[in-house]
Amino acid sequence: MTGTDERTAARSVLVTGGNRGIGLAIARRFAAAGDRVAVTHRGEKPPPDTGLLAVRCDVTDGSQVDRAFKEAEAAHGPVTVLVANAGVTGDRLLVRMSEEDFTSVLDTNLTGAFRVVRRAVRGMLGQGHGRIVLISSTAALHGAAGQTNYAAAKAGLVGFARSLTHELGARDITCNVVAPGLTETDMSRALTEEQRRDLLGRTPAGRLGRPDEVADAVAFLAGAGYVRGAVIPVDGGAGLGH
Ligand code: NDP
Repeated sequence: MTGTDERTAARSVLVTGGNRGIGLAIARRFAAAGDRVAVTHRGEKPPPDTGLLAVRCDVTDGSQVDRAFKEAEAAHGPVTVLVANAGVTGDRLLVRMSEEDFTSVLDTNLTGAFRVVRRAVRGMLGQGHGRIVLISSTAALHGAAGQTNYAAAKAGLVGFARSLTHELGARDITCNVVAPGLTETDMSRALTEEQRRDLLGRTPAGRLGRPDEVADAVAFLAGAGYVRGAVIPVDGGAGLGH
């Protein structure tokens, strides 16, 4: 498939956690470009005016992942663009962090991505084409107090994407990572004033990112066949390119 075809043909897109926040902005971006877009949700569906196909799925459950893909594929055809966006935080200083606090965050943010990517890659190998984007975080690269679980999971996505890039070799299937900084969603609204001030103080742009600014980077990667194993920061300069 050429770059031109990628921009003109309607793609079958699946965005996990696409019912709200960053995932919803990403899903809207693909839908606006004419793609057929399915989003997973656990509770609330995406707003009805979006035209998105809502499929119920908790990414910690492999059978729900399989069912969600089957629903999306029945409606839109084989998934050729996957955005693994679903994520949670569970902040706690390490000395107070239980094993369950640690593993539950990994189960959603890292193993959840593994579950959906593995399911997607099978179909992409059959199609001979695919675009995978994993939503990580600046926390992966810089760490943050209280986020040993979250940062470990988000850093794990980088090694995962790069290893998969080696495995996929010369096939036209890419796997890249987007690492947002503090972005205006329910997740960032849960931070304390002090945490927000501290993070903004380290952000040259001096403001939070918007979900649609993360969607810009994802849309670029979905059309970029020769960009592989990359980590694209969308963080107002907080990591100065890292
Ligand atoms: P929100 O809290 O607004 O949304 C989280 C999304 O993930 C929801 O759609 C939620 O679904 C879904 N989700 C959570 N757990 C699961 C699960 N077990 N199975 C399926 N879906 C699940 O977060 P954001 O939009 O801010 O975050 C999106 C991604 O961006 C996350 O991976 C996050 O780590 C990352 N990120 C966010 C930053 C920020 O500042 N906002 C900064 C850096 C990275 P439901 O509605 O069912 O709960």
